[in-house]
Amino acid sequence: PVRVRFAPSPTGPLHIGGVRTALFNYLFAKKNNGVFYLRIEDTDQNRFVPGAEEYIFEALKWLGIEPDETIGVNEQFGPYRQSDRKHLYKQYALDLVHNGFAYYAFDAAEDLDALRKEAEAEGRTFIYNHSVREVLNTSLNMTHDELEARLFNNDPYVIRFKMPIDEKLTLKDIIRGEVTFDTALLDDKVLYKSDGMPTYHLANIVDDHLQGTSHVIRGEEWLPSLPLHYLLYRSFGWDAPEFAHLPLILKPVGNGKLSKRDGDKLGFPVFPLDWKSETGETAMGYREQGFFPEAVVNFLALLGWNDGTEKELFTLEELIESFDLARVNKSGAKFDPEKNKWFNHQYLAKKENGELAVYLQSVLNEKGIAVDNAVVEKVAGLVKDRANLTTDLYALADFFFVAPEKYDEKAAKNWKEDTSGLMQQVISVIENVKVFEAKEIESTIKNWIQENELGMGKIMQPLRIALVGEMKGPDLFEIISVLGKAETTKRLNTAIN
Ligand code: GLU
Repeated sequence: PVRVRFAPSPTGPLHIGGVRTALFNYLFAKKNNGVFYLRIEDTDQNRFVPGAEEYIFEALKWLGIEPDETIGVNEQFGPYRQSDRKHLYKQYALDLVHNGFAYYAFDAAEDLDALRKEAEAEGRTFIYNHSVREVLNTSLNMTHDELEARLFNNDPYVIRFKMPIDEKLTLKDIIRGEVTFDTALLDDKVLYKSDGMPTYHLANIVDDHLQGTSHVIRGEEWLPSLPLHYLLYRSFGWDAPEFAHLPLILKPVGNGKLSKRDGDKLGFPVFPLDWKSETGETAMGYREQGFFPEAVVNFLALLGWNDGTEKELFTLEELIESFDLARVNKSGAKFDPEKNKWFNHQYLAKKENGELAVYLQSVLNEKGIAVDNAVVEKVAGLVKDRANLTTDLYALADFFFVAPEKYDEKAAKNWKEDTSGLMQQVISVIENVKVFEAKEIESTIKNWIQENELGMGKIMQPLRIALVGEMKGPDLFEIISVLGKAETTKRLNTAIN
């Protein structure tokens, strides 16, 4: 059975790359009638950030891709937080030592630092591998009694994996095909520390095995860990899951990997929700920027995947239906903030006016402006074609609710010598409109323009300046009908004077 997991470390707010990993796992699970579970990988206590775990759950909930199993949900394979599984890992590390796949290392941090510096001075890099493990303070060059004595003495130690000296490993990745690694170039990674905590590598493999993971779908940055992970499965005598490493997400300009700094610098969110850590770190979220979760899911799905056609708009159900790991690209996927807005626009433009009115009302509430909801809905309908984000709505519609305080300079140039007189006449024309609806207003004004041979621009442009303050906004007759006779007349009088 398909069982896949999202295994974030709670080290801060969830980055867009992490969310994409979660989404691809979710889609793969649903497509294959499998299980999508979430495991919190918090073995590195130094990197633990309070509030990060809550953030992860809230973000997935907002996006609508919640796990089938996790902390507090269907805990068949629990616990789902590695710090709650702490007691489990030591025996596995010891098994590896007993079977000759791992060893104790007692080097003090200062000694290792000294070795690193020495190597650096000689223009080398210090690698903890077969070249040093027989000469340093390891159980590989200690008698059994010496080892026992050190352990009895509670000397601090780590358990390291004994990387094969020279083995070529050709491993299969669903997205990349065969990838070859040379173990001679790899180091003896720490698996377990004497403080009772496993490292990521050990905990990740033990848990994926115990929790029945069938496929590991994760970011490309984990590809270099693949040989170690494969060797750990082999050393334990366990079947390894299948692996799929997702392409990097690249920044909009240049070729580097997308980072939080790009977002901060260029002003686009790289996190699903706004974040403020206890140390004052902040990040902008998609939700607060005015994106819809469906749109975020949609553009994330296309970061490295497509269905083989030109189709770009997918509901979550359609994504589940079409998703295929074999169609995920190897090469990095460029992150395009403008395209993300385009996606959001596609969803926004199709929303009911009533749903969009809620966003306008919340701004109006903040500003203490009371407007009948029927009017706000009408306004939402008039501006939604131009809005990308829900947070754009008010800026596009402000003049419906607040009369212009100043007039755009360039636009004001259209106010000629005879304009005031003409606008005076427009006031009487408008006052004579019987049914105050856009159609009726339009025909009345247009008839008057024609009868007096005035020319559309001569009337319509100043009219828009007087009502809107600048040359923007939807159909002017719609604007007049929403403003009503009294407000329209009032704004015209203000502009005349
Ligand atoms: N805890 C790792 C992370 O934060 C998980 C990597 C994996 O999926 O193996 O991405």
